[in-house]
This record gives sequence, structure tokens and C-alpha cells, in this order.
Amino acid sequence: MRAMTYRGPYKVRVEEKPEPTIEHPNDAIVRVTRAAICGSDLHLYHGLMPDTRIGHTFGHEIIGVVEEVGPSVQNLSPGDRVMVPFNIYCGSCFFCSRGLYSNCHNVNPNATAAGGIYGYSHTTGGYDGGQAEFVRVPFADVGPSVIPDWLDDDDALMLTDAFSTGYFGAQLGDISEGDTVVVFGAGPVGLAAARSAWFMGAGRVIVIDHLDYRLEKARTFAFAETLALSEHKDIVVAVKKATEYLGADVVIDAVGAEADGSVVQHVTGAKLKLQGGSPVALNWAIDSARKGGTVSVLGAYGPIHTAVKFGDVVNKGLTLRSNQAPVKRQWPRLLEHIQAGHVRPGELLSHRIPLEYIAEGYHLFSAKLDDCIKPAILMGTE
Ligand SMILES: [Zn+2]
Ligand SMILES: [Zn+2]
Repeated sequence: MRAMTYRGPYKVRVEEKPEPTIEHPNDAIVRVTRAAICGSDLHLYHGLMPDTRIGHTFGHEIIGVVEEVGPSVQNLSPGDRVMVPFNIYCGSCFFCSRGLYSNCHNVNPNATAAGGIYGYSHTTGGYDGGQAEFVRVPFADVGPSVIPDWLDDDDALMLTDAFSTGYFGAQLGDISEGDTVVVFGAGPVGLAAARSAWFMGAGRVIVIDHLDYRLEKARTFAFAETLALSEHKDIVVAVKKATEYLGADVVIDAVGAEADGSVVQHVTGAKLKLQGGSPVALNWAIDSARKGGTVSVLGAYGPIHTAVKFGDVVNKGLTLRSNQAPVKRQWPRLLEHIQAGHVRPGELLSHRIPLEYIAEGYHLFSAKLDDCIKPAILMGTE
């Protein structure tokens, strides 16, 4: 089959690879019809995730058609159109039984924190991802869901991670009626979080980014007020001014470890890897929250940080909440919102790129060319 493969930092290409096979009775093989490149795939692409091996296929945002199921699979049949959450999880361990699907204890022998993720290096289990014609889906009775007939492919694709993750970030913010919600980062996840904040009763939503075209999307897609990093010497002061000098009730960090904005942080984090990435956005979030407020962290960070303003978290009485989204938990409410016409998550897909040109897709997305918000990858079968 044709599959995207990793060749080293900033180098990916499409190669011929053996088709995946059923390795466990509860596996399914899914013929991928559409995948997406995630902002978090760029951390892999930039060579920042430990143990990203040559030949690994990325891709954890996948929809497709079930090709084959293992002998113990009961909930899926060949021919079913399915959306596959980015989390790989067993469904029955201590954590899964509490709904913490992204923290499953049975799918990633290498880590005590993260669970399994498709196509996200051997740090999260070493599973090949779905930027390929076929993908093996472990625990097929647990993760994937049949896509309802009325649901459009693009909307379904956005539910496999980015939109569900943004929605989850807003949920973690514990938004009360009328709250002011500030979102750092106007990538797909930040835009989804900003849009979702309204569903939860936000009174104001303010999105912050350094790219004008993304702030424009924040206004048109998420109906948010915007603050441009380029226009404010100190973004925290700008947030304070916008909130009667109190700070925001809820701040969502949808940036993560590769933030621009501080050379020292960037060098010690992203370049030297002395820290798990740059905490600059997280520190902005901590500083922008009002006393007693909540900071919801969605951005991807490595395990160790030394320069997070943790004393301020304590002294301001902040509630800090985070996790990787347990995507399938967000689906029932999001499906209701989509069916009721409240939102079309697929509107966040700005580019459609055939698998054969995926290297161009990574470059376009990474370099933020052509006003890229998020690229979808189309398989030759469409
Ligand atoms: Zn993703
Ligand atoms: Zn589990």
C-alpha cells in the first residue's frame, strides 16, 4: 500500500509499505478514505518527539471503511463507514472504566502517563498511523464508531481529534454563564475551543494569535474578539485591559511547546530540549487568568518543565486542568450540535491534498503558507 513515512526532521515521503494485517482477534483493518494532518504531527515532523523512528507512518485523524475484522470483533462489520478516535485504548482497565481513554494503561508499555495514539512515535506505543491507504485498528470494538448517514466526511474527520479536543478544552475550563474565556492559539484546536465556549455559556470569547489570517478565522468561525500578538508589546497587559484589569475567568492554552515569543524559552525548550518545549504560552495563560480562575491546557508539552510560573498558580488560587481528550466522550454532544446545525467542524479544513503530495502538505502546514488552517489528506480511492 501507499503510506506516508518519516525519514527524519522535516523529511517525509510516500512509500510502498506492506498492508497491515489482523494481529489480535479484536483488531480491524480500516481502508482509509480521508485523514488529516494535525498540529501535533508537526512536533513529530520537526523531530521534537523522542523515539520517532525512520519509516514510521503518522496520522491519528482517520475516517474510512472497515475492510476486515478479527474473529472476536462484534460491533463492526466489513463495509461500515467509521470514524476512528486518535486514542487507542482497551476500554476496560482502571482508567478506561473511569472514562480516561487517553490514559489507558494497557496500550503503551513505554509510558506511565500517555496512552496509545496512532502514528505518534514509539513514545505513544509505536502504532502506525492512518496517513496511508490502510490502518490497523486495535480494540476495534472500543474506539471507532460507525459514522451516522447524515454526517459529512469532513465533519466526521474533525471529530477524530481537533474539534473534539477543542470542545474538551472548553469543558475543562468549567465555564460558567457569562464567563470571559481567553484562548491562546488560533490553530484548529484553539478555534474549536473558542467556538465550543459559546455552547457552554461564555459571555465573551477572546482569541490570541500572531497570524492575522487565523485571527480572521477566529472572528468568522468562532465569533470571537481577537488580540494580535504583533500589536501588543505585552499580551498579558492587553488581556488585563480587556477585562477591567481582573484577568479572564477561564484561559485555554491551545498553543503548546512550540510557541514563539521568547528566545530563551525557545532555545532551552525546542532546540536544546532542556525542557519539554517552551512554556511561554502556558505562562501567558497563567498570567492572564484572574485570581481564582481556571487554566485549561490543551497544548502538547514534553514531560519536564523548569520555567513554569507555578508559584503564581498557587498564589492566585488557579485551577489548572489538562489531559489529552478522551475523544469518544465528546462525540454524543458534538453530534447533537452538528445535527442541530450549530456548527460545521469541517469548515476548519482549509486544504485537500492527495496522499502522493503529503510532503507538500506538511511543508505548507508547518510554514503556515497559503493561509493554511488544517490540511485534509485524500486517498486515491476517492
Ligand atoms: Zn490530532
Ligand atoms: Zn484501558
